[in-house]
Amino acid sequence: MQLTQLLYASTICDELSVDEINMILKSSRKNNPGSGLTGLLYFNRRYFLQCIEGARTEVNETFHRIQQDTRHKNIVILHYSEISERFFPNWGMGYLTESSATQSVYIRFANNPLFNPYLMKGESALGMIKALKALKSGQQSQT
Ligand code: FAD
Repeated sequence: MQLTQLLYASTICDELSVDEINMILKSSRKNNPGSGLTGLLYFNRRYFLQCIEGARTEVNETFHRIQQDTRHKNIVILHYSEISERFFPNWGMGYLTESSATQSVYIRFANNPLFNPYLMKGESALGMIKALKALKSGQQSQT
């Protein structure tokens, strides 16, 4: 199996309600475990940044489905590589939304207070998603 990681950015088509975001997470968490996929979705009310990892075929199939989704547009791959181990082994799809803590993470990687994934280098975006994972793991261990 070729373990693969894909990171992309996209923009919402219209305002998305909390219920609609929950629907996306529900579908992800329903489908991803069966496909052996793990990852993290970050959303700042305008842009998505999502990392998906797993077997290459499954990553590509799911990404193809995500690209057809009319809830977002301008889907741009920021990073794609083979990996030796997963960053998110326990998350069918972790989720984080914008907060002052995530904004600090973004400033570290983009030197800019306004999150815009399209302006980021792939490596910076990957660094950011790893830092978001550390942030989320820290939040979980405090609850
Ligand atoms: P269901 O889960 O049964 O669909 C549930 C409901 O979602 C539908 O009844 C409908 O109301 C709504 N819906 C489904 N597809 C669409 C669509 N194309 N446009 C508008 N509404 C729709 N799916 C994953 O499996 N894994 C992921 O990691 C993942 N990440 C996503 C990230 C983003 C930013 C977005 C926007 C979508 C993501 N999705 C993901 C959802 C994906 O695009 C498909 O909608 C989903 O995989 C379809 O699954 P399903 O056939 O089991 O439908």
